[in-house]
Amino acid sequence: MKRLSFLDHPIPHHIVYHPRRRYVSFIMRADGCVEIRSPIGAKPEKLQQLLANYRDHLPAPPAAEKAPDNAIYYRGLLYDIILKIVPACKAAFFQLQDDGTIHLTVPAQDTAASHFEECLIRESIELFRERTAHFCLLLSVSVRHISIRDLKTRWGSCSPHSASIRYNWRLIMAPPQIFDYIVIHELAHLHVPNHSQAFWQVVAQHDPDFRQHRKWLRLHGNQLFLPLNLSSKLKAPPGLSI
Ligand SMILES: [Zn+2]
Repeated sequence: MKRLSFLDHPIPHHIVYHPRRRYVSFIMRADGCVEIRSPIGAKPEKLQQLLANYRDHLPAPPAAEKAPDNAIYYRGLLYDIILKIVPACKAAFFQLQDDGTIHLTVPAQDTAASHFEECLIRESIELFRERTAHFCLLLSVSVRHISIRDLKTRWGSCSPHSASIRYNWRLIMAPPQIFDYIVIHELAHLHVPNHSQAFWQVVAQHDPDFRQHRKWLRLHGNQLFLPLNLSSKLKAPPGLSI
């Protein structure tokens, strides 16, 4: 198997040497360039290799674009949002429609975005549980605890000692194969805790296209962090207040 090289998908970066620094750290700057802070003497090639190994844990580059107006990516497809205001409804909910719209029912317009986010988080918990159970069988691993977080800088994390996994709920907006890649990635850490070649071999067995999926996250991952853009111009079906 070909080793992953830094050159496969270059990450914009620059190196800053600090005389008193003892460890290497990576900082995602506002311009999307990674600042590598290093002790003096570390070779650039070595630092670039470290960065390549660490790339899955880098925060998404800052969002350069605005979220689509009154629309959202759900499982990789863009849906227009049709808002229904039902003041009596206690818990917000949404339904996917065949016509490419999402009907979102909320008690009030001013809290529609946060209600929608709560719905997406609830939905992502179900999906992560289901896909984790599915891949646990395939990878012959078991997980004791799954949690869903609003992780700012990661897509997921795994604590092999406690067999617990954390996922970023925003992956529900990504295509299903990207969602599954992160599940496979975290479960593979139960076999190999680091990002060595042995680790990527486990991932590749269950996701042969994992390189493309990692690349997708690097190129488009920042889109998943854009705030929902629900404006007052939201379409409402006739007869419903907005
Ligand atoms: Zn990892």
